[in-house]
Amino acid sequence: MKPIDYLIVTNDYATSCAGTCPTCVLSKDERAIKTPFTRAENIIKGLNAAGDNYGEIGTLALGIGRANVLMLPKESVGDIRAIMAAGRNAFNFRDGITEITTSLIGKIDPQIERAKKLLDTADNEAFDARFVVVANTALSSEKYWVNLNTFLRAMEAHRGGSNIDGNGDILQLALASETLPDVHELVDRVSEYKFAVNLTWAPFYDAGIEDEARLEELGNWIAEFYRLTSERGLDSSLVNRTDMAIAIDEEPFTHSLARAAESERAVVYIDQDGSWHNGYFTVLAEMDPIRFDPLAAEESPNSFRRVIFLLKNPACHGCPFHTACISSGAERIGTMALRKHPRGTHTCPSGMRRTFEVASGKPH
Ligand code: SF4
Repeated sequence: MKPIDYLIVTNDYATSCAGTCPTCVLSKDERAIKTPFTRAENIIKGLNAAGDNYGEIGTLALGIGRANVLMLPKESVGDIRAIMAAGRNAFNFRDGITEITTSLIGKIDPQIERAKKLLDTADNEAFDARFVVVANTALSSEKYWVNLNTFLRAMEAHRGGSNIDGNGDILQLALASETLPDVHELVDRVSEYKFAVNLTWAPFYDAGIEDEARLEELGNWIAEFYRLTSERGLDSSLVNRTDMAIAIDEEPFTHSLARAAESERAVVYIDQDGSWHNGYFTVLAEMDPIRFDPLAAEESPNSFRRVIFLLKNPACHGCPFHTACISSGAERIGTMALRKHPRGTHTCPSGMRRTFEVASGKPH
Protein backbone atom coordinates (compact mmCIF):
# COMPACT_ATOMS: atom_id res chain seq x y z
CA MET A 1 0.00 0.00 0.00
CA LYS A 2 1.20 3.48 -0.86
CA PRO A 3 2.74 5.29 2.17
CA ILE A 4 1.05 8.51 3.27
CA ASP A 5 2.65 11.47 5.09
CA TYR A 6 -0.31 12.62 7.14
CA LEU A 7 -3.56 10.77 7.84
CA ILE A 8 -6.51 12.32 9.66
CA VAL A 9 -8.94 9.83 11.23
CA THR A 10 -11.89 11.18 13.14
CA ASN A 11 -15.29 10.07 14.36
CA ASP A 12 -18.73 10.80 15.73
CA TYR A 13 -18.04 9.71 19.31
CA ALA A 14 -19.72 12.81 20.76
CA THR A 15 -22.37 15.26 19.57
CA SER A 16 -23.22 17.04 22.87
CA CYS A 17 -22.94 20.81 22.85
CA ALA A 18 -24.78 23.72 24.47
CA GLY A 19 -23.68 26.06 21.68
CA THR A 20 -25.79 27.65 18.97
CA CYS A 21 -23.49 28.07 15.96
CA PRO A 22 -25.89 28.91 13.11
CA THR A 23 -24.27 26.59 10.54
CA CYS A 24 -23.66 23.61 12.85
CA VAL A 25 -23.85 20.31 10.95
CA LEU A 26 -25.31 18.53 14.00
CA SER A 27 -29.05 18.55 14.66
CA LYS A 28 -30.53 20.16 17.75
CA ASP A 29 -31.47 16.69 19.03
CA GLU A 30 -27.94 15.38 18.54
CA ARG A 31 -26.48 18.35 20.40
CA ALA A 32 -28.90 17.77 23.28
CA ILE A 33 -27.58 14.21 23.90
CA LYS A 34 -25.59 14.26 27.12
CA THR A 35 -23.93 10.86 26.74
CA PRO A 36 -21.57 9.63 23.98
CA PHE A 37 -23.32 9.48 20.61
CA THR A 38 -22.04 5.96 20.00
CA ARG A 39 -20.20 3.17 21.81
CA ALA A 40 -16.40 3.08 21.84
CA GLU A 41 -16.63 -0.48 20.41
CA ASN A 42 -18.18 0.91 17.22
CA ILE A 43 -15.43 3.48 16.79
CA ILE A 44 -12.82 0.77 17.40
CA LYS A 45 -14.48 -1.48 14.79
CA GLY A 46 -14.23 1.39 12.29
CA LEU A 47 -10.59 2.09 13.16
CA ASN A 48 -9.68 -1.54 12.54
CA ALA A 49 -11.58 -1.65 9.23
CA ALA A 50 -9.99 1.59 7.98
CA GLY A 51 -6.53 0.59 9.22
CA ASP A 52 -6.51 -2.42 6.85
CA ASN A 53 -6.54 0.03 3.92
CA TYR A 54 -3.48 2.06 4.85
CA GLY A 55 0.23 1.19 4.91
CA GLU A 56 3.01 3.30 6.41
CA ILE A 57 1.89 6.68 7.78
CA GLY A 58 4.15 9.61 8.76
CA THR A 59 1.79 11.34 11.23
CA LEU A 60 -1.54 9.98 12.38
CA ALA A 61 -3.95 12.69 13.63
CA LEU A 62 -6.60 10.82 15.58
CA GLY A 63 -9.62 13.04 16.19
CA ILE A 64 -12.01 12.53 19.08
CA GLY A 65 -15.10 14.39 17.91
CA ARG A 66 -17.28 16.23 17.58
CA ALA A 67 -18.96 19.06 19.53
CA ASN A 68 -17.98 19.28 23.20
CA VAL A 69 -16.14 16.13 24.29
CA LEU A 70 -15.21 17.84 27.59
CA MET A 71 -18.83 17.88 28.81
CA LEU A 72 -19.44 14.12 28.49
CA PRO A 73 -19.88 12.00 31.64
CA LYS A 74 -16.63 10.98 33.35
CA GLU A 75 -16.87 7.41 32.01
CA SER A 76 -15.96 8.84 28.60
CA VAL A 77 -12.29 9.08 29.68
CA GLY A 78 -12.07 5.26 29.68
CA ASP A 79 -13.72 5.11 26.25
CA ILE A 80 -11.31 7.69 24.84
CA ARG A 81 -8.36 5.77 26.26
CA ALA A 82 -9.64 2.62 24.51
CA ILE A 83 -10.12 4.53 21.22
CA MET A 84 -6.56 5.89 21.40
CA ALA A 85 -5.15 2.43 22.14
CA ALA A 86 -7.13 1.00 19.22
CA GLY A 87 -5.86 3.76 16.90
CA ARG A 88 -2.32 2.88 17.91
CA ASN A 89 -2.87 -0.80 17.03
CA ALA A 90 -4.90 -0.27 13.86
CA PHE A 91 -2.45 2.04 12.02
CA ASN A 92 1.26 1.85 11.31
CA PHE A 93 2.50 5.42 11.99
CA ARG A 94 5.61 7.24 13.15
CA ASP A 95 4.14 10.22 15.10
CA GLY A 96 0.74 10.28 16.76
CA ILE A 97 -1.32 13.30 17.68
CA THR A 98 -4.85 13.34 18.97
CA GLU A 99 -7.25 16.24 18.38
CA ILE A 100 -9.99 16.50 20.97
CA THR A 101 -12.95 18.71 20.05
CA THR A 102 -14.57 21.12 22.48
CA SER A 103 -16.70 24.25 22.30
CA LEU A 104 -15.81 25.21 25.91
CA ILE A 105 -19.43 26.30 26.33
CA GLY A 106 -20.60 25.68 29.89
CA LYS A 107 -18.83 25.93 33.25
CA ILE A 108 -15.12 26.21 32.57
CA ASP A 109 -13.61 24.60 35.70
CA PRO A 110 -15.02 21.07 35.17
CA GLN A 111 -13.96 21.26 31.53
CA ILE A 112 -10.41 22.18 32.54
CA GLU A 113 -10.29 19.22 34.95
CA ARG A 114 -11.55 16.86 32.23
CA ALA A 115 -9.09 18.28 29.72
CA LYS A 116 -6.18 17.64 32.13
CA LYS A 117 -7.28 14.02 32.50
CA LEU A 118 -7.43 13.65 28.73
CA LEU A 119 -3.96 15.19 28.34
CA ASP A 120 -2.62 12.59 30.80
CA THR A 121 -4.54 9.81 29.03
CA ALA A 122 -3.11 10.80 25.66
CA ASP A 123 0.36 10.99 27.17
CA ASN A 124 0.03 7.44 28.53
CA GLU A 125 -1.03 6.25 25.08
CA ALA A 126 1.94 8.13 23.51
CA PHE A 127 -0.23 10.64 21.63
CA ASP A 128 0.50 14.35 21.65
CA ALA A 129 -2.89 15.91 22.52
CA ARG A 130 -4.35 19.14 21.13
CA PHE A 131 -7.72 20.69 21.73
CA VAL A 132 -9.75 21.96 18.80
CA VAL A 133 -12.00 24.68 20.16
CA VAL A 134 -14.93 25.19 17.78
CA ALA A 135 -16.77 28.50 18.05
CA ASN A 136 -18.76 31.07 16.17
CA THR A 137 -21.40 33.15 17.90
CA ALA A 138 -19.64 32.70 21.24
CA LEU A 139 -16.74 34.79 19.94
CA SER A 140 -18.76 37.97 20.31
CA SER A 141 -18.94 37.42 24.08
CA GLU A 142 -16.19 38.84 26.31
CA LYS A 143 -16.87 36.08 28.86
CA TYR A 144 -16.11 33.47 26.22
CA TRP A 145 -12.69 34.99 25.49
CA VAL A 146 -11.95 35.05 29.23
CA ASN A 147 -12.92 31.36 29.46
CA LEU A 148 -10.79 30.56 26.44
CA ASN A 149 -7.80 32.32 27.95
CA THR A 150 -8.33 30.58 31.31
CA PHE A 151 -8.50 27.24 29.52
CA LEU A 152 -5.36 27.88 27.48
CA ARG A 153 -3.33 29.02 30.48
CA ALA A 154 -4.44 25.94 32.47
CA MET A 155 -3.43 23.63 29.59
CA GLU A 156 -0.11 25.43 29.23
CA ALA A 157 0.60 24.98 32.96
CA HIS A 158 -0.40 21.31 32.84
CA ARG A 159 1.87 20.69 29.86
CA GLY A 160 4.86 22.16 31.69
CA GLY A 161 4.63 25.96 31.46
CA SER A 162 4.86 28.74 28.92
CA ASN A 163 8.43 27.80 27.96
CA ILE A 164 6.99 24.78 26.11
CA ASP A 165 7.03 25.67 22.40
CA GLY A 166 3.46 26.20 21.04
CA ASN A 167 0.85 23.96 22.67
CA GLY A 168 -0.75 23.08 19.32
CA ASP A 169 -4.29 23.94 20.40
CA ILE A 170 -6.46 25.29 17.61
CA LEU A 171 -9.40 27.68 17.46
CA GLN A 172 -11.75 26.48 14.73
CA LEU A 173 -14.08 29.21 13.60
CA ALA A 174 -17.34 27.91 12.11
CA LEU A 175 -18.15 30.62 9.56
CA ALA A 176 -21.72 31.76 8.93
CA SER A 177 -22.36 34.52 6.41
CA GLU A 178 -24.79 36.34 8.70
CA THR A 179 -22.65 36.29 11.86
CA LEU A 180 -19.12 37.03 10.70
CA PRO A 181 -17.04 38.29 13.62
CA ASP A 182 -15.01 41.48 13.29
CA VAL A 183 -11.96 40.14 11.47
CA HIS A 184 -9.48 42.67 12.90
CA GLU A 185 -10.62 42.06 16.47
CA LEU A 186 -10.46 38.30 15.93
CA VAL A 187 -6.92 38.39 14.56
CA ASP A 188 -5.83 40.74 17.40
CA ARG A 189 -7.17 38.30 19.97
CA VAL A 190 -5.58 35.32 18.27
CA SER A 191 -2.22 37.12 18.04
CA GLU A 192 -2.42 37.92 21.75
CA TYR A 193 -3.15 34.31 22.75
CA LYS A 194 -0.77 32.72 20.18
CA PHE A 195 -3.45 30.34 19.04
CA ALA A 196 -3.62 28.67 15.62
CA VAL A 197 -6.94 29.51 13.98
CA ASN A 198 -8.58 27.49 11.26
CA LEU A 199 -11.79 28.25 9.40
CA THR A 200 -14.58 25.88 8.58
CA TRP A 201 -17.77 26.58 6.65
CA ALA A 202 -20.83 24.47 5.89
CA PRO A 203 -22.46 26.31 2.93
CA PHE A 204 -25.27 23.77 2.75
CA TYR A 205 -26.51 25.00 6.17
CA ASP A 206 -25.82 28.69 5.55
CA ALA A 207 -29.19 30.19 4.57
CA GLY A 208 -27.60 33.66 4.33
CA ILE A 209 -25.76 32.85 1.10
CA GLU A 210 -29.00 32.66 -0.85
CA ASP A 211 -28.35 36.39 -1.04
CA GLU A 212 -25.27 36.74 -3.29
CA ALA A 213 -24.26 39.97 -1.57
CA ARG A 214 -23.62 37.94 1.60
CA LEU A 215 -21.62 35.40 -0.38
CA GLU A 216 -19.46 38.25 -1.59
CA GLU A 217 -19.05 39.63 1.94
CA LEU A 218 -17.98 36.19 3.11
CA GLY A 219 -15.37 35.97 0.33
CA ASN A 220 -14.02 39.42 1.27
CA TRP A 221 -13.93 38.42 4.95
CA ILE A 222 -11.89 35.27 4.18
CA ALA A 223 -9.47 37.30 2.02
CA GLU A 224 -8.97 39.87 4.78
CA PHE A 225 -8.44 37.08 7.31
CA TYR A 226 -5.85 35.57 4.95
CA ARG A 227 -4.09 38.94 4.54
CA LEU A 228 -3.96 39.71 8.27
CA THR A 229 -2.87 36.23 9.39
CA SER A 230 -0.19 36.07 6.67
CA GLU A 231 1.14 39.51 7.59
CA ARG A 232 1.44 38.58 11.24
CA GLY A 233 2.87 35.13 10.58
CA LEU A 234 0.01 33.41 12.43
CA ASP A 235 -0.61 29.72 12.05
CA SER A 236 -3.69 28.96 9.94
CA SER A 237 -4.47 26.12 7.57
CA LEU A 238 -6.10 28.68 5.22
CA VAL A 239 -2.74 30.37 4.71
CA ASN A 240 -0.75 27.13 4.34
CA ARG A 241 -3.23 25.51 1.95
CA THR A 242 -3.87 28.65 -0.14
CA ASP A 243 -0.14 29.30 -0.57
CA MET A 244 0.44 25.70 -1.58
CA ALA A 245 -2.39 25.86 -4.15
CA ILE A 246 -1.07 29.12 -5.65
CA ALA A 247 2.45 27.68 -5.87
CA ILE A 248 1.22 24.91 -8.18
CA ASP A 249 -1.36 26.97 -10.03
CA GLU A 250 0.30 26.39 -13.40
CA GLU A 251 0.02 22.58 -13.28
CA PRO A 252 -2.35 20.82 -15.72
CA PHE A 253 -5.98 20.46 -14.75
CA THR A 254 -5.81 16.65 -14.65
CA HIS A 255 -2.90 16.78 -12.17
CA SER A 256 -4.98 18.99 -9.85
CA LEU A 257 -7.85 16.52 -9.98
CA ALA A 258 -5.49 13.64 -9.11
CA ARG A 259 -3.93 15.72 -6.31
CA ALA A 260 -7.38 16.51 -4.87
CA ALA A 261 -8.37 12.82 -4.95
CA GLU A 262 -5.14 11.88 -3.17
CA SER A 263 -5.81 14.54 -0.48
CA GLU A 264 -9.23 13.05 0.14
CA ARG A 265 -7.62 9.66 0.79
CA ALA A 266 -5.86 11.37 3.71
CA VAL A 267 -9.13 12.00 5.57
CA VAL A 268 -11.11 9.17 7.20
CA TYR A 269 -14.41 9.44 9.07
CA ILE A 270 -15.76 6.68 11.30
CA ASP A 271 -19.55 6.59 11.60
CA GLN A 272 -21.56 5.76 14.67
CA ASP A 273 -22.18 2.20 13.40
CA GLY A 274 -18.47 1.50 12.88
CA SER A 275 -18.40 1.92 9.10
CA TRP A 276 -15.89 4.35 7.54
CA HIS A 277 -15.50 6.59 4.49
CA ASN A 278 -13.08 9.19 3.13
CA GLY A 279 -13.77 12.90 3.56
CA TYR A 280 -13.21 16.17 1.70
CA PHE A 281 -9.85 17.86 2.18
CA THR A 282 -10.45 21.55 1.54
CA VAL A 283 -8.56 24.80 1.80
CA LEU A 284 -10.62 25.66 4.89
CA ALA A 285 -10.90 22.38 6.77
CA GLU A 286 -11.56 18.69 6.36
CA MET A 287 -15.26 17.94 5.89
CA ASP A 288 -17.32 14.82 6.34
CA PRO A 289 -19.53 14.57 3.21
CA ILE A 290 -22.27 12.76 5.13
CA ARG A 291 -22.54 15.71 7.51
CA PHE A 292 -21.55 18.65 5.31
CA ASP A 293 -22.84 17.58 1.91
CA PRO A 294 -25.81 15.24 2.39
CA LEU A 295 -26.94 15.50 -1.26
CA ALA A 296 -23.57 14.31 -2.61
CA ALA A 297 -24.55 10.67 -2.12
CA GLU A 298 -27.22 11.07 -4.83
CA GLU A 299 -24.66 12.12 -7.43
CA SER A 300 -22.38 10.20 -9.75
CA PRO A 301 -18.93 9.79 -8.17
CA ASN A 302 -17.30 11.05 -11.40
CA SER A 303 -15.11 13.94 -10.19
CA PHE A 304 -14.41 15.19 -13.74
CA ARG A 305 -18.13 15.74 -14.38
CA ARG A 306 -18.54 17.46 -11.03
CA VAL A 307 -15.74 19.89 -11.76
CA ILE A 308 -17.07 20.66 -15.24
CA PHE A 309 -20.45 21.45 -13.64
CA LEU A 310 -18.76 23.98 -11.32
CA LEU A 311 -16.73 25.56 -14.10
CA LYS A 312 -19.91 26.19 -16.11
CA ASN A 313 -21.19 28.40 -13.29
CA PRO A 314 -21.20 32.04 -14.54
CA ALA A 315 -18.80 33.23 -11.79
CA CYS A 316 -16.43 30.31 -12.36
CA HIS A 317 -16.40 30.27 -16.14
CA GLY A 318 -13.80 33.01 -16.61
CA CYS A 319 -12.09 32.61 -13.23
CA PRO A 320 -8.29 32.46 -13.58
CA PHE A 321 -7.90 30.19 -10.55
CA HIS A 322 -9.40 26.92 -11.77
CA THR A 323 -6.32 24.89 -10.94
CA ALA A 324 -5.86 26.36 -7.44
CA CYS A 325 -9.58 25.93 -6.79
CA ILE A 326 -9.51 22.23 -7.70
CA SER A 327 -6.22 21.27 -6.08
CA SER A 328 -7.11 23.05 -2.81
CA GLY A 329 -10.56 21.50 -2.52
CA ALA A 330 -12.21 24.95 -2.78
CA GLU A 331 -14.10 23.35 -5.65
CA ARG A 332 -15.84 21.04 -3.13
CA ILE A 333 -16.97 24.07 -1.13
CA GLY A 334 -18.17 25.84 -4.28
CA THR A 335 -20.14 22.77 -5.38
CA MET A 336 -21.86 22.64 -1.97
CA ALA A 337 -22.72 26.36 -2.13
CA LEU A 338 -24.19 25.93 -5.63
CA ARG A 339 -26.78 23.53 -4.22
CA LYS A 340 -28.39 26.71 -2.86
CA HIS A 341 -28.18 28.32 -6.30
CA PRO A 342 -29.50 25.88 -8.91
CA ARG A 343 -29.36 28.65 -11.55
CA GLY A 344 -25.73 29.46 -10.72
CA THR A 345 -24.04 32.52 -9.22
CA HIS A 346 -22.23 35.59 -10.45
CA THR A 347 -20.22 35.60 -7.21
CA CYS A 348 -17.52 33.04 -6.42
CA PRO A 349 -19.45 30.22 -4.69
CA SER A 350 -16.50 28.85 -2.70
CA GLY A 351 -15.68 32.28 -1.25
CA MET A 352 -12.02 31.74 -2.24
CA ARG A 353 -11.47 33.73 -5.44
CA ARG A 354 -10.64 36.99 -3.62
CA THR A 355 -8.19 35.11 -1.36
CA PHE A 356 -6.49 33.54 -4.38
CA GLU A 357 -6.15 37.04 -5.83
CA VAL A 358 -4.53 38.37 -2.66
CA ALA A 359 -2.25 35.32 -2.32
CA SER A 360 -1.10 35.47 -5.94
CA GLY A 361 -0.65 39.25 -5.82
CA LYS A 362 -2.63 39.39 -9.04
CA PRO A 363 -6.03 41.07 -8.62
CA HIS A 364 -8.21 40.10 -11.59
S1 SF4 B 1 -12.25 30.24 -7.04
FE1 SF4 B 1 -14.47 30.59 -6.98
S2 SF4 B 1 -14.99 31.54 -8.96
FE2 SF4 B 1 -12.96 30.55 -9.15
S3 SF4 B 1 -13.43 28.48 -9.94
FE3 SF4 B 1 -13.29 28.34 -7.69
S4 SF4 B 1 -15.40 28.56 -6.97
FE4 SF4 B 1 -15.35 29.30 -9.10
